[in-house]
Amino acid sequence: MSGGRRQELAENLRHVEERLDRACRAAGRQRAEVTLVAVTKTWPATDAQLLVELGVVDLGENRDAEARAKAAQVTGARWHFVGSVQSNKAGSVARYAHLVHSVDRPSLCQALSRGAVAAGRTVGVLLQVSLDGDPARGGAPIGDLPALADRVAASPGLELRGVMAVAPLGAEPAGAFARLAEAARGLQQAHPGARAISAGMSADLEHAVAAGATHVRVGTAMLGHRPGVLR
Ligand SMILES: *Cc1c(COP(=O)(O)O)cnc(C)c1O
Repeated sequence: MSGGRRQELAENLRHVEERLDRACRAAGRQRAEVTLVAVTKTWPATDAQLLVELGVVDLGENRDAEARAKAAQVTGARWHFVGSVQSNKAGSVARYAHLVHSVDRPSLCQALSRGAVAAGRTVGVLLQVSLDGDPARGGAPIGDLPALADRVAASPGLELRGVMAVAPLGAEPAGAFARLAEAARGLQQAHPGARAISAGMSADLEHAVAAGATHVRVGTAMLGHRPGVLR
């Protein structure tokens, strides 16, 4: 049974790697410039462990309870938190997250910073950018980025690494990711170390790589269709 799953994951990984290789070649980029984050939400810890064994150590989750449980069970992974963080969960997230992709408000900086300091850790932070101005989908408006970036940079235990976005529903991903890349360039003027761009999921990773993404977050293409509700 688990042998079958391992083979399935290995095949999916090979296919995703082929897509990444092709996208990097088309963009004149090196494959090593792009980190593949496998989004394991809704899938069991055993799948996450199989991915680590197949060489995918960067794993993403979007809910604290699920992420915390997997972080305790899986060995050798680096955890990326890609969902919206409730402030009262920030202390927990700060104990296991290597990179939080979804910081979009000052109050969250404060809570994450406190958690990171308490845990004696440094947590990487990406600012989630809203590309469609719809606050329901998370992300800060582009105009809020400079102040938020300064806030993260001044927070003990946090390290500002760059930006993240989800392409707006129904929008053309190439245009959305180009706007994200422009926001990233703006941010780098004041924070030259903030070079990461987290963009692209199963359906649009080629567009993201073309626009300069350094991190792609791939769920469905790696693990299959998530059972039940869309999340
Ligand atoms: C679930 C999720 C992904 C992965 O999406 P797929 O379409 O399954 O590849 C990427 N980013 C975020 C923020 C997610 O919540």
